[in-house]
Amino acid sequence: MRSECIACDECVRACPAGFGAIFRHGVTLVIVSELCSGCGKCVPVCPVDCIVDDPAWSAAPEGWWRHAGAADDPYQRRTTGPTAGVRS
Ligand code: SF4
Ligand code: SF4
Repeated sequence: MRSECIACDECVRACPAGFGAIFRHGVTLVIVSELCSGCGKCVPVCPVDCIVDDPAWSAAPEGWWRHAGAADDPYQRRTTGPTAGVRS
């Protein structure tokens, strides 16, 4: 993503909900490449053409998705334990 971003959020709305790879970070946007499917839907909606292909990008390994939400996933939301119910 180039610096001409005007933070219009069109790319956020275009990114399929199943991926949700684009996040607002302060006054700019960040694409998390590990969450990106490579569908390209964010590129044509940008009014200032500041989303560009990364030739070095490759999809996250399939095994990463099997790990998400599993019992050993360190990012799994806790429902019990010392931090249950604590909002950050
Ligand atoms: S290419 Fe990646 S960031 Fe862009 S819309 Fe598709 S999944 Fe989202
Ligand atoms: S569509 Fe383009 S200008 Fe709008 S927030 Fe996304 S990257 Fe920025």
